[in-house]
Amino acid sequence: MNNQTLLNRSLQSVWHPCTQMKQHETYPLIPIQRGDGVWLYDVEGKGYLDAVSSWWVNLFGHNNPRIKEAIKQQLDTLEHVMLAGFTHQPVVELSEKLAKLTGLGHAFYASDGASATEIALKMSFHYWRNSGKSNKTKFISLQNSYHGETLGALGVTDVAIFKDNYAPLLTQSAQMPSPDWRLAEAGESTEAFALRCAESLEQHISEYHHELAAFIIEPLVQCAAGMGMYHPAYLRRARDICTKYEVHLIADEIAVGFGRTGTMFACEQGNIKPDFICLSKGITGGYLPLSVVLTTDKIYQAFYDDSTARGFLHSHSYTGNPLACSAALATLAIFESDNILEKNMQKAAYINGEMQVLTKLSIKHLRHHGMIWAFDAETKNAQFSKQVYQAALKQGLLLRPIGNTVYFMPPYTISESEIDFMLHAAVEVLQEIA
Ligand SMILES: *Cc1c(COP(=O)(O)O)cnc(C)c1O
Repeated sequence: MNNQTLLNRSLQSVWHPCTQMKQHETYPLIPIQRGDGVWLYDVEGKGYLDAVSSWWVNLFGHNNPRIKEAIKQQLDTLEHVMLAGFTHQPVVELSEKLAKLTGLGHAFYASDGASATEIALKMSFHYWRNSGKSNKTKFISLQNSYHGETLGALGVTDVAIFKDNYAPLLTQSAQMPSPDWRLAEAGESTEAFALRCAESLEQHISEYHHELAAFIIEPLVQCAAGMGMYHPAYLRRARDICTKYEVHLIADEIAVGFGRTGTMFACEQGNIKPDFICLSKGITGGYLPLSVVLTTDKIYQAFYDDSTARGFLHSHSYTGNPLACSAALATLAIFESDNILEKNMQKAAYINGEMQVLTKLSIKHLRHHGMIWAFDAETKNAQFSKQVYQAALKQGLLLRPIGNTVYFMPPYTISESEIDFMLHAAVEVLQEIA
C-alpha cells in the first residue's frame, strides 16, 4: 500500500489523539511502517529520528531484541488472565522489583497514566475516609501541572487548552505556585525560588489541611508544561509540609520515572519517599500499555478489613497484563545488566557538550535534567511549533515542540553520530523558522 492510500484511509476511519483533525488538510499524517533503534521508517522507507521517544515512552529503542524476546516468551505461556482472584509470575516479580526500587510495597496496576492518577486520587481519598477523616476530599496540584486527561486526572491538571472546554465536568482543585525556575525573579537562584514557592504551599496547606486529601506533583520536571524544571529542594520541603499537616504526597513519575531525570526515580534527588508513586510510559520500554500505583504499608493496611466496602474495589479489565509485565521486567533487566543510569550520565555529558551548537540561535533557558533537554525559542511566530515539527520531519527528525519550547527526550540508546544528526538537523530547522 502506498503512503497516500493509507493516509486517506486513516483520515476516514481514525480519530487521532491531541489533534484538531481539520489541521490534517494542511499537515499530512506520517504513515509509519516499522521502527529500529531511534529510527522510525515510513511506508516509503524514509527514516525519522525519534527525538521524543514516541511521546516519552521509549527507553531502549524500537525493535529492541531483549524486550521483544521477553514478550514472545510470555506469549507462548500466558497472554492474559484477570487479576481478581488470580495471580501470575510476571506480576509478582514486577511488583517485588518495583517495591525494592521505590520503597513502596503494594502495587496496583492499570494500563495508562491517567488511570494511575485516578487510582492514586481515589486511594488517597478512600484512605482518609477509612481513617475517619471523610472531610479530606480535596486535591491540590502545581500551576501548569499535567496528570492525564480522564475527568479526575484533568481536575488536577492545569493546562488550559486541555481543560477549559470540560470545566463544567471537573472537580475543582487549587493550584500552588510552580517552582519551574523560568518563573523566578531575575537574579534569584533556582533553589531560593523553589523554597519561596514551598512557602506558598505551606501557607495554603496550613490553612486548608483539614479538607485536603493529597498534593499531586510531577517531581523535578513538569514535562507537558514545556519541560519546566525545578530544584529538588522543593521536593524536600513539600514532603515535610505534607507530613506535618497530614496531607498525602502523590509523585506522578509517569513521565520522569525510569531514569529520565538521571536517577531511577526523580524523588530520589529530593531524598524523599512519597505516599503514592504513579508510574507508566517508560515502564515497558515503550512496548505495551501498563501503569502502576505503588503505596505504603500504612495506606494498604487502612483498606485491609472484613468489610468489602473498605477495600479498594477499583478495577480495569487488563489490570496486570502478563505481556506488559514481561516487557517491564525485561526493561528493568536492561537497567541492571547494562548499568544504564551510569551510562546515561556519560551520554548526557556528551550531549551537553554538543548542545553548545544551539547557543548561536535566538533562544533562552537552555536547560537539562538527566536525559531531557529543552530551550525556549525567542519568537513571536504563532505557528512556531507546527512549523518546526513540519520542517524537522523533512530533515528526518521527529521533534514536537510545546509552544515555543523545543525539547529532546531521545531513547537512551541514541549513539553519538545520531546525537550529532539530531542537533545539527534541529539547528538547520531553527535557522529556517524563527
Ligand atoms: C503522560 C502523562 C500522564 C498521562 O499518561 P497517559 O498514559 O497519557 O494517560 C500523566 N502524568 C504525566 C506526568 C504524564 O506525562
